[in-house]
Amino acid sequence: MRTFEEINKKRLENLNKTLKNIHKSPMYRDKYNFEIEELNDLSELRKFEITTKEELRAYSPSGNLAADMKKVVQYHETSGTTGKSISTWLTNSDHQVWCDEMESVALKFNENDILAIRFPYALSFPAHIIQDIVKKAGGVAIPIDSRGVVTPHTRVINLMLKLKITTIACLPLELIMLAETAKLMGYDPKEDFKSLRGFYTIGELLTKERKKQIENIWGVPVYDNYGLTECGVVATACENGHLHVVDENFIIEILDPETLEPVPNGEKGIITISNINFEGNPLIRYYTGDIGRIVDGNTCECGKSSEIIEHFGRIYDIIKIGDQEILMQELQDAILKATGDKVSPFWMVSFNKKRLTINFEESDDREVLDKKAAEQEISNLLGCECKIKLNKYGELFDREKLLKMQLTIKPKYIADYSQTSDYPCTLNDLLKGYGTF
Ligand SMILES: [Zn+2]
Repeated sequence: MRTFEEINKKRLENLNKTLKNIHKSPMYRDKYNFEIEELNDLSELRKFEITTKEELRAYSPSGNLAADMKKVVQYHETSGTTGKSISTWLTNSDHQVWCDEMESVALKFNENDILAIRFPYALSFPAHIIQDIVKKAGGVAIPIDSRGVVTPHTRVINLMLKLKITTIACLPLELIMLAETAKLMGYDPKEDFKSLRGFYTIGELLTKERKKQIENIWGVPVYDNYGLTECGVVATACENGHLHVVDENFIIEILDPETLEPVPNGEKGIITISNINFEGNPLIRYYTGDIGRIVDGNTCECGKSSEIIEHFGRIYDIIKIGDQEILMQELQDAILKATGDKVSPFWMVSFNKKRLTINFEESDDREVLDKKAAEQEISNLLGCECKIKLNKYGELFDREKLLKMQLTIKPKYIADYSQTSDYPCTLNDLLKGYGTF
């Protein structure tokens, strides 16, 4: 295993290689409109201004591309939920780099694995990269998808049982939804899925408490990772559950959002990423908007020497009540610490200038929550007034949605009147059950 010094030496080499080519990107040609000299130390990276999401949006789809289009083999873009989408173009070499990054997780796929891929297949990257990895390891990839109409939750549960699925790759919330569906179908998530050995998650904040909750429900470990469509998989879970930065491909800085200066190790700030082993869309000091910190001193026993980072949610998700700022991570952990499994796993939060209100559902196994005590505990943990509203089971989240098996058919153009007296007369009638018709 390489030492931290060796990793940094390689990082400097990769950074200089990246900077040499950076002017091939029209965005960086405009932004760093000066001759770039070779750096002697990683700290010199601070001379460069940060790159913002707004810049990437303005220059997408191809103004941030630094490689010849003839070398590009794959395209992804961000969901665009907070603005115009950001484009990412991968060369063959980038594709390999992204596979290597994802593969560095402690959940190692093998020839006995049957992996259910429950990420969206349209435009986002994790489904496609993880599919390549599991196939390379000799396992089987089941492209289940998460946004289509073909595979509702009930069908996923049936596939898990029928195919003896060993691993699932998805967003954390999906694992709670699937467990709930399994229970509604009469299965016990812990007892009836004996072939399962682990979950791969990425794409949503997963706090320690929520990870523990999911592991308790299913009885198998969750390997959570941190990545972005703009950069690939930046940090992966080791066997001890720590997020290690992928060695020599990234330089991570944590910046103070007010001053944009680096904060001391161990303090929170904005995760700022330079991806220095990427031909398509190299990024220098990309200010992600994600709140994180570098754990001071890596004492992890897994053997990886790269930094451990922690993720606390997005800056846009901070809740402000009076002078108090509450991060998504603090909220999730406080809720789970105070309520445990005495409420159903679905909750939602609303707030005004004075207080936070959390809507829960009663637990399906009739465990009773001491509302006053839980309100007090969450108020203490978050430093603001908190009210709990306890709804009946099913009032907050309609379980029928999980069970609704949407009928899906292939395209139809011919009305067969030979067996029925129910005559379709328009194409709409004929396509009933197809997609969203
Ligand atoms: Zn570790």
